[in-house]
Amino acid sequence: RSKRRGRGQITVYSQEIAQEMRRATLLEQALRNAIIADEIDVHFQPIVSLDTDMVVGFEALARWCDSDLGYVSPAIFVPLAEERGFIDALSETLLRKAAEAALLWPKELFLSFNLSSAQLMDLATSSTVLAIIHRVGLDPRRLELEITETAMMRDADMAQKIVQELRDAGVRISLDDFGTGQSSLGRLRDFTFDKVKIDRSFVCRIVNDRASEHIVKAIVTMCDGLGLEVVAEGIEDFAEALMLKGLGCGMGQGYFYGKPADATATLRYLRDRYRDTDTKRPIAI
Ligand code: C2E
Ligand code: MG
Ligand code: MG
Ligand code: MG
Repeated sequence: RSKRRGRGQITVYSQEIAQEMRRATLLEQALRNAIIADEIDVHFQPIVSLDTDMVVGFEALARWCDSDLGYVSPAIFVPLAEERGFIDALSETLLRKAAEAALLWPKELFLSFNLSSAQLMDLATSSTVLAIIHRVGLDPRRLELEITETAMMRDADMAQKIVQELRDAGVRISLDDFGTGQSSLGRLRDFTFDKVKIDRSFVCRIVNDRASEHIVKAIVTMCDGLGLEVVAEGIEDFAEALMLKGLGCGMGQGYFYGKPADATATLRYLRDRYRDTDTKRPIAI
């Protein structure tokens, strides 16, 4: 293609590539500095029971706003951190911060934390995670770890071993972005976990697209049979919430219930909704 366009075009391409490489180096440098300077924060998004409209837990989501680069999505910097070998340092700090925040919530609320694929290929992950929450003082039974099918598949035996050690300690495991990965249904049988999170791509089409509706229905039925809990991700409006509730989906998460917010705003969110502090009843949204 470059031949037909002539020599000038090749120069433009190589300049673009060089620019892209400079940008990548800049991003990596900035990320390294942000981790060292402890500038990456953790936000929390509510997960609610669709039956009762009560908040049942929060998912921790990493947030980074660089002074030069501006907001950088975790979908960009988490994979970069994995690639460059910073993920352990980053993840340990984030889990510690998230667990400390969760200590201030009512005890019946769980904390859900994302594990990256690199962490599922490292046998030390289970003991590291357990040591961190032990040090902070968070009950392992309040912790959930989210893993994706794709991450799990990289080294299924290793992932299974890590998952088993964590579950033995009381930590629950949920399968994130379900329906988009490359795992088979056999995985659902062989793998031991507690919860399935239906990917947003099904949820955002559920009102207008019969196929998505049927797929979600099938996932819910299958999970019921297998004794797994189900969460629908990315619920943005009432119509979607109603539909998912009608299909028997137990839990939901999305902008309709609350956007990710920092630890302070999350406490305020809880306080605003707490009806009776003494009885420690769940929170109605
Ligand atoms: P995820 O674990 O599937 O997280 C859900 C994503 O959906 C989050 O994006 C969340 O902000 C977004 N979301 C929630 N509700 C809605 C909604 O109603 N509409 C729309 N359009 N989006 C919604 P976010 O925060 O950008 O995170 C992207 C991904 O980055 C996460 O996907 C997760 O895979 C990864 N990630 C985030 N934080 C961490 C972390 O601390 N560690 C690791 N390993 N991965 C993380
Ligand atoms: Mg997640
Ligand atoms: Mg997800
Ligand atoms: Mg997702």
